[in-house]
Amino acid sequence: MIKPMLDSSTRFVFVDADVRGNIVRLGDSFKQMTASHDYPSEVQELLGEFLAAALLLSDIIKFEGRLTLQANGQGNIRLLMAEATHEGAVRGIAQLEDAAPADAFRDKNLLQLLSGSKPSEGKLVGGTLTVTVEALGRERYQSIVPLLGETLAECLESYFQQSEQLNTFIRLSADSNQASGMLIQQLPVQMEQDLAQRADRWQTIRVLAGTITGAELIAKANSVLLQHLFVEENIQIFDATSVQFQCGCSEQRMAGALVSLGESELASLFEQHQTLALTCEFCGAHYDIDNKKLMRLVTEGVKPH
Ligand SMILES: [Zn+2]
Repeated sequence: MIKPMLDSSTRFVFVDADVRGNIVRLGDSFKQMTASHDYPSEVQELLGEFLAAALLLSDIIKFEGRLTLQANGQGNIRLLMAEATHEGAVRGIAQLEDAAPADAFRDKNLLQLLSGSKPSEGKLVGGTLTVTVEALGRERYQSIVPLLGETLAECLESYFQQSEQLNTFIRLSADSNQASGMLIQQLPVQMEQDLAQRADRWQTIRVLAGTITGAELIAKANSVLLQHLFVEENIQIFDATSVQFQCGCSEQRMAGALVSLGESELASLFEQHQTLALTCEFCGAHYDIDNKKLMRLVTEGVKPH
């Protein structure tokens, strides 16, 4: 059996339909970034889905820069964050509720994990899901993804439907070692001029795509997967591009994070410690920054963390 090529992003098109797609796979990149974190398996899998989704989105939105997919919650999960650049560099992190017992994550969907409830109020408090794009030479922009689904894939599908009016299919799947994602999207009318036929065709593709299980997505090589799903379609698969774990943190970015704390907070920190020992949450790198160094970094121009 042909094995899937990991740490890759592969585009494909339906040759005679206005439909395109992409399959992304993370292996070593996923293991490297989660090795130093002891995430519960359910959280590790969700983070894998977020990373696969960030890669898929960064490929769909053509830009040079960084895309961040971020969920903030008030439940067992406080933060899930995945970033992907146009060059295939990825990093991600999860932050959990301090007091959450190990089994708190079992059998819960994304929405349940992000929702907190205060006993006195007895109601669910929702989380937020955002996509932020920082593109070179353009202003940073952020969109809110409505939590209209139980899974990340469902929320993103309805986001494309509502904001871009683009029919989109997304399947995400992860285990403790790897994460995969597939996106198939209908493009604006180009060659499919008969709108009724076009709608039927999409419906068929959508239904066939929906038969793929998460396990199949992880196990099957791209060409085999697409052949099996779409027997009657002519699909062109492009060369894969590579994906790698790369944090991108630096002294400059750490200085940026410090500056964003505000002057009084910063002054009180330096009153307590001559040198601040900082650790990057994404990769574990250590940075020692004293006041003098901070001033130098600020003068050189800080970058957002
Ligand atoms: Zn780092």
